[in-house]
Amino acid sequence: MLTDLHVHLRDDEFDLTPEVAFTTENVDRYLESAGAKGIGVLGVSEHMYRFRQAREVWEHPSWTPWATDDLDAYCEFVRDETPLLLGIEADYLAGREEQIAEYLAGRDWDYVIGSIHFIGDLEVNDESEANVWNGELGDVDAVWDTYFDHLMRAARSGLYDIMAHPDLVKHGGDGTPQPTRDRRHWYEPAVAAMAESGVAIELSTAGFLERVNEQYPDVEFLRLAVEAGVPVALSSDAHMAGELGQFYDRALATLAEVGIDQISTFERRTRSDLPLSYGPVPFGSS
Ligand SMILES: [Zn+2]
Ligand SMILES: [Zn+2]
Repeated sequence: MLTDLHVHLRDDEFDLTPEVAFTTENVDRYLESAGAKGIGVLGVSEHMYRFRQAREVWEHPSWTPWATDDLDAYCEFVRDETPLLLGIEADYLAGREEQIAEYLAGRDWDYVIGSIHFIGDLEVNDESEANVWNGELGDVDAVWDTYFDHLMRAARSGLYDIMAHPDLVKHGGDGTPQPTRDRRHWYEPAVAAMAESGVAIELSTAGFLERVNEQYPDVEFLRLAVEAGVPVALSSDAHMAGELGQFYDRALATLAEVGIDQISTFERRTRSDLPLSYGPVPFGSS
């Protein structure tokens, strides 16, 4: 069985407005693409900042203007009109844990994916001047210290089931500064935090679209996580139907390399582990 849990229906770049994205016609395209790629478990995880309820969580120039859709309409659409698992990609915003919990409360998520896109007011994956490389956080190793500190706090917050693209801070590859220390300095405590708190680590193929051109997390990071018993969730972070399962051949090679034969899925926030298999499986057959 293959999964794709970290998936977006909505994307402005591809003109996937809510009127287009949240329709059964659009979902049918995703189901067809998933079926063709042997993805038997498919869920969606829209960005929390897409919904106007996110304005009560935070106000920021890279947040508030996007917060236009209705969260309840999204949840109702996915639950009532599709066979998809209902997820959300919820940013971890240090110091705003209560507001995030309030936002997530009262909705019957299958899973909540935690992402570190922001450190304070600074963006991790943005080309703008207000990003983590602007010097405010110190040198490159200090940026990595802070990024991984946030990842650990997110894992321990109890808000999340899966930690998304866990080493996103590397995304710029050789286009952004890279740290000098052995990266196990950051991986080891991060893995300990994930193991303690029971969250799954996401193997995301989205990094193959970035300058770094490799999956999140790094193979060494994934290997340490597996050794510590951290469950692994496989996703593509697709933003359109055709991107589902992209680069899974490479992800499967990595999973084999680190000895993984089970991947995790979630229903109503309860994890189950499925045997990893490669053959085509019609969607919804298990
Ligand atoms: Zn993300
Ligand atoms: Zn995403």
